[in-house]
Amino acid sequence: MAGRLILVGTPIGNLSDISARVEQALKECDFIAAEDTRVTLRLLNHLGIKKPLVSYYEHNKRERGAQICKRIMAGESCVLVSDAGMPAISDPGEELVAMCSESGIEISVVPGPNAAIAALAISGLPTGRFTFEGFLSMNRRSRREHLESIKNEPRTMVFYEAPHKLPATLEDLLKTLGDRRLVIVRELTKLHEEVIRTTLSEAVLRYRDESPRGEIVLVIEGAAHPSGQEFTLEQAAEAAAALMEQGVSASEAAKRAAVETGLRKSDIYRVVSR
Ligand code: SAM
Repeated sequence: MAGRLILVGTPIGNLSDISARVEQALKECDFIAAEDTRVTLRLLNHLGIKKPLVSYYEHNKRERGAQICKRIMAGESCVLVSDAGMPAISDPGEELVAMCSESGIEISVVPGPNAAIAALAISGLPTGRFTFEGFLSMNRRSRREHLESIKNEPRTMVFYEAPHKLPATLEDLLKTLGDRRLVIVRELTKLHEEVIRTTLSEAVLRYRDESPRGEIVLVIEGAAHPSGQEFTLEQAAEAAAALMEQGVSASEAAKRAAVETGLRKSDIYRVVSR
């Protein structure tokens, strides 16, 4: 292995989620850039791997990123990991990947667990189209702007949240989005994994005084339809037919048109499969 950056996903709670490719990448690289070297050292000790570590985190990412790029360009291979899950997803790494790609460095990925995707999959809410909203800012103005921008978002939305901020966040979400289905996904892949299927208004009451513990993802139903826009069954069937012309199956096309228009998949499917 020489001269490249390898993004490696690590477990979000359960060490048995380490794949053979993760182990191989960690063994074969020249050095590892880690968010918190103590956390990564525990992972390496678990695997019995010894490897030079450098820290790469929010407050040193500019200068450390440049040093890492330089080493890679001189022929070394670098694995990038964060404390948990996929590096660069609400974690340090986004800038390093951009820096490396601008410098023409080869980048590869060993995909691993990601809390947002796992929570979306288990939520039971529509998954055909979704948005990842990350963490809401603590800065009042950018928080309000973020919330306003998603008010009419028709796609399922996925948020990361810290438990102690949950009560305030739920109140803000209810105020801006109105009542919606909400799935609170806690402690994925860990002993106390839990999926709470509720609504924003119920959750505001339930967690007013006490937040759930551990790590949390919020999955929220999209707006019923973009503001003021109502679709007819005929329009939905046309959208599905256009997808079918591109080779999408009738079932998948009806599903995507249903997400787009807020109409029922079975009704659209009945029209396009006639
Ligand atoms: N890079 C990570 C990923 O790929 O999922 C996300 C890192 S972000 C700094 C941490 C947030 O991810 C937590 O605050 C929580 O919202 C979510 N998270 C991480 N692990 C989780 C778990 N086991 N269960 C539920 N949410 C989790």
